[in-house]
This record gives sequence, C-alpha cells and structure tokens, in this order.
Amino acid sequence: MLTRETIESAARELGAAMFGVGDLSLFEGEDPRRDPKMICPKAHCIVGFGIPVPRGLYKTMKEGTQFYTYTTVGVKAIDEEYFEIFLFKMASIIEDAGYDACLQRTTPNLRVQGDKSANPETIGVYELKYASPVEPGKPPPDIMIDFGKAARACGIGMPGRDGKVINRAYGPFMRYAFIVTDAPLATNPPFADDLCAGCDACVKACDAGCIDPEKGLDTWKCWEHYNKARGYDLPRTQWGYQACLCGKKCDVACWEHLTGKTL
Ligand code: SF4
Ligand code: SF4
Repeated sequence: MLTRETIESAARELGAAMFGVGDLSLFEGEDPRRDPKMICPKAHCIVGFGIPVPRGLYKTMKEGTQFYTYTTVGVKAIDEEYFEIFLFKMASIIEDAGYDACLQRTTPNLRVQGDKSANPETIGVYELKYASPVEPGKPPPDIMIDFGKAARACGIGMPGRDGKVINRAYGPFMRYAFIVTDAPLATNPPFADDLCAGCDACVKACDAGCIDPEKGLDTWKCWEHYNKARGYDLPRTQWGYQACLCGKKCDVACWEHLTGKTL
C-alpha cells in the first residue's frame, strides 16, 4: 500500500528537506483557475516538496564575489532541471501504486487566462487566452496553482511579505514543487505561524525601497534595481533568470531574521 512515508523517504533521499501533504479542502473558495482540484477532479491531496538553495550562493552575493550562480544554479537549475527529474521519480512511485500524479513546477513565463501581469525579467510572458473550458462552468486550462497557498496547505511554508515562500528553517532559501494526486495519503495540518508578524527586515534591507509593508513587492521596481545595481543594464531575456546584482539583500535579511544566524 502506498503511504506518505514511502514518498517522503524517497523525496528526502533525493534532497527534499521539507515535505508535507495538504488537504484539498483548504483550497475551498480558491479562484478556479488556480484550484488544484480543477487539475485532477478526483484528487485527494497535494504533496509539497522543498529543496534548499545552498547558502553559499547567497554568501557570494553578500561578499560581492559572484552573482550569476544564485540565478543559474540556485533558481533555474533547481526549478527547471533538477525538479523535473525529481518529480518524475516521485510520479513513478505514485503511479506504480495505481494512482495519478499531476506534477507542478514553477512557470515564470505563463499566466492563467485573464492575468495580464508580466514577469519583468522575461520578454515573452504568455497569457493563455486562447484556451477554452471543456464544458460550461469549468475554468479554461491551464490551471496554475498558487505556490504560496500550496506550501501553506502542505504545512511547509507561507507566503512572506515580499511574496517569497518562507519557513523558519530555511527562510526564503528554498525552492518548491508539488504533486496533485488521488492517492489517499494522510494529510498534515497547514502551516499555522505568521512569520511576518512584527517583522520588516526585508523592507529595511532593500536599498531601493521595493517592498511596501502593506502592498508587498513592487516587481518592476525590484527588477529595475537589481538589474542595474552595479552599474550594468542587463537586457530582458526570453526566459528571464538574470543575475540579481543587488545581492538579494531582502532574502538574506529574512534568512538571518528567521534562522537567528548570520550569513
Ligand atoms: S523579512 Fe520578515 S517580513 Fe520580510 S518576508 Fe521575512 S519574515 Fe516576512
Ligand atoms: S531582490 Fe533586491 S531589489 Fe528586489 S526587493 Fe530584494 S533587495 Fe530589493
């Protein structure tokens, strides 16, 4: 019989430091275009995985010795390369046991229908406007889950003031992927803490004032700043992932605040 322990053990062996299983009833009232239940109508739960971004990639930015590796290795390689292999391995465990595994990884250049926002880093941000529902009353594909809400449901993190998913053990130094499945896995309670209560470390850390305590991160202002922070003016690219020349001071401050350590 497939259990959450079987999946967790395989996930940890492959480098997942955070693991949780969320109850889909927690998405009650969610925008249907972002509702995991709309991906797999008979789904039972959502499984969440967190892989740490090595601290050294932030440390080199803090010391001013290297900036591009955070983006290429710490973000792109984990999200777009390693997580794909990781998710396939998790899927084979779930599907060999007779259930469906709907794999979810970040999609920085795609937007659900009706979302006109753009990712400042990426030239081609595509709103899926030509998709149509399979029948009346259903949302148009593709459904794209909100990773902050998914992490909270799985008990592995929460969306921070600047929009990053954070937890006490890794701060924002972590990347996430999920699987929506009909496997009847035991769920755990959602993330209950409010880690941002009484904290404005990220707000103070940003030299350019890109994080508003109430409104959160201004993504365009942030991109303008980290792109030019060291006298460069890097062009936008097809797939994004530019070096963060500001050194991600917001993330470093958050990590130091939440872990109580100094990078
Ligand atoms: S630095 Fe503080 S306010 Fe900002 S995201 Fe982290 S915990 Fe929340
Ligand atoms: S990434 Fe850089 S520019 Fe953007 S909010 Fe953080 S410190 Fe400010």
